[in-house]
Amino acid sequence: MAKIELLLKYQTEDSKLLQIEREAANSEEWKNYSQTKSFLTKAPEKLEAMDAKAQEIYVRLDELNKKYGELADTLKDFDNIDELVEGGADISFYKKNISQITDKLKAIKSEMNALVKSVKEADEEYQNLKKKTISVQKQYTEFSAKYQEYKKGKLAEMDAVKEQLKVIAKDISPEVLKRYEMKRSERIFPIICTVKNNRCSKCGMELSIMGKEKIDGGEVTECENCHRFLYKE
Ligand SMILES: [Zn+2]
Repeated sequence: MAKIELLLKYQTEDSKLLQIEREAANSEEWKNYSQTKSFLTKAPEKLEAMDAKAQEIYVRLDELNKKYGELADTLKDFDNIDELVEGGADISFYKKNISQITDKLKAIKSEMNALVKSVKEADEEYQNLKKKTISVQKQYTEFSAKYQEYKKGKLAEMDAVKEQLKVIAKDISPEVLKRYEMKRSERIFPIICTVKNNRCSKCGMELSIMGKEKIDGGEVTECENCHRFLYKE
């Protein structure tokens, strides 16, 4: 059998392997398994970030609480304002002070309310994610078992094709095979294509003078653009 015919036979068999790989990559089994796995990989980091955010809010609330208490205490200093009034003091300064402190207290209170609201929301989000993580963990156990079973079947199918490939490969030069496998690993497929009007039938690149000579001599050449093996039918 001529060299190119063997290679074509190898490629036809190899396309079955590619088909199985594609089927596996698009299977529900793989999608379910990989999606739950990816969720579970990211969940701890997300939960941790949420927890850190909640802690930050608590620290800020604590600060504000202290500040509020301190300011409220200073208001007590004005408790004896009535005595001052009776003593004939000018109380406009004190009044201004009191109103400033009251404004500050209001501002703190409103920031605290906002923080309490956001800490509630953050907690709800955290609880939801935690619940979801637990349910995905259960799903993952199931999906993982199903995928392992599916994979076993696919691997057996692939092994059968690989056996066939080995048989064909015996008559192909190791050097050519090595180049073929290299292209295969670069996700080029089909690897062997025909020449039409001195052009690569896959990408349309014209053959070089050397390429033309090889093709005319019945040899296999390589496309200079897409690097596929080219032959004349
Ligand atoms: Zn090409």
